[in-house]
Amino acid sequence: MLACLGRRKWRRLSTGTLKATWKSVNGEDASSSRGRIARGVSSGAETIAKERVDTVVIGAGVVGLAVARELSIRGREVLILDAASSFGTVTSSRNSEVVHAGIYYPPNSLKAKLCVRGRELLYRYCSEHEIPHRKIGKLIVATGSSEIPKLDLLMHLGTQNRVSGLRMMEGFEAMRMEPHLRCVKALLSPESGILDTHSFMLSLVGQAENSHATFSYNTVVLSGRVEEEKMRLFVAEIGSFVAQLELIPNLVVNSAGLAAQALAKSFHGLDRRFIPSSHYARGCYFTLSGIKSPPFNSLVYPIPEEGGLGVHVTVDLNGLVKFGPDVEWIECKDERSSFLNKFDYRVNPQRAEKFYPEIRKYYPDLKDGSLEPGYSGIRPKLSGPKQPPADFIIQGEETHGVPGLVNLFGIESPGLTSSLAIAEHIANKFLR
Ligand SMILES: Cc1cc2nc3c(=O)[nH]c(=O)nc-3n(C[C@H](O)[C@H](O)[C@H](O)COP(=O)(O)OP(=O)(O)OC[C@H]3O[C@@H](n4cnc5c(N)ncnc54)[C@H](O)[C@@H]3O)c2cc1C
Repeated sequence: MLACLGRRKWRRLSTGTLKATWKSVNGEDASSSRGRIARGVSSGAETIAKERVDTVVIGAGVVGLAVARELSIRGREVLILDAASSFGTVTSSRNSEVVHAGIYYPPNSLKAKLCVRGRELLYRYCSEHEIPHRKIGKLIVATGSSEIPKLDLLMHLGTQNRVSGLRMMEGFEAMRMEPHLRCVKALLSPESGILDTHSFMLSLVGQAENSHATFSYNTVVLSGRVEEEKMRLFVAEIGSFVAQLELIPNLVVNSAGLAAQALAKSFHGLDRRFIPSSHYARGCYFTLSGIKSPPFNSLVYPIPEEGGLGVHVTVDLNGLVKFGPDVEWIECKDERSSFLNKFDYRVNPQRAEKFYPEIRKYYPDLKDGSLEPGYSGIRPKLSGPKQPPADFIIQGEETHGVPGLVNLFGIESPGLTSSLAIAEHIANKFLR
């Protein structure tokens, strides 16, 4: 059975499971301990312990971490639960690590507003907390004249979204800047950059802990129930699908990424009309081998494709060059698979055959055999194939009518860039 909760005790060993933490800190059995938080009694097989907690954030990805940090800094007692054994093991560690400027999204959409605000907050945060990052800029390139109107549209969108420094360049100018590039026109975005996502997340964990947030890994939220106008969460240690603890929080933030909709569907009392359908789009990366130095100094992106931003070039802070991600629509077996991240992340080496011609449109020097399978990530999308892109959904009582429940759906790219702004938005809108 899960150990009962005591915030101070939990804090000290935040990387362990509930049980391990309690035992190793107290050196005694949980059932004899006195936690600060009110707790119920587990007296038999049919009864489980109950705990009242202030705020529960479900999911310790970059968004959940940013939310937990923000809420704890604002004085809330925050408990972060994650099914994995550490923070940021799912989509937050399987992305391009690009700080997006905010160009691609419809004006006034959440994606546009939160990306632009999030970028400002992120660069400031990285500077203040010495998180490795670099504003290396990005070129979005048209490789044929038929693509120029799409580039013009991106310039227009970016300008409407108040992205500063955007500049249209003639092909020769862009190719002088990046000698390995081939294009007929390019849109320069000097505000785009790269960061070390792991260091960023580690820093968020530290900040949240300094503000007394408590982490419990290996802890799955199995389901929930709305009772007496309050959410109740049923949780278990990893490996069990029988609820071992009932949490009664004042505020729940469902930041479960790929599993957010499956989790919301398990919340009895939440009207299913408010849960959008899930679509999953895997994106694979290939790395560039056999080079002495990266061929590009800036990020180079083609014109966006359906479901993604196109197979682009990213150089990480260690100089590793990667191409991707592509778009492959996949299915998820069932909700438990999504809670436990049982997705298929293998990169099929044969996908490289499609990468070569795509990349050679803007990087003709790419040598045969130089692409090696890298890693993949899965986009938690709200729109499927042939559907127009969807916005982020951040949904509270005003939408679904359940007090104290905030659902985050479809937090795909630019979720990393937007993370601090999503946290700020939630704190401003939902804290009472
Ligand atoms: C291929 C790809 C490239 C991308 N590139 C960029 C980029 O360059 N720039 C950018 O800004 N954004 C990018 N993104 C988007 C960005 O990575 C995501 O928006 C962001 O990581 C989402 O973070 P999250 O915290 O919402 O989700 P996640 O990181 O997936 O975290 C969700 C957490 O919830 C936990 N969880 C799930 N179910 C349960 C449960 N039932 N109980 C307990 N815990 C649970 C999981 O274990 C997980 O840790 C990219 C995404 C992809 C897929």
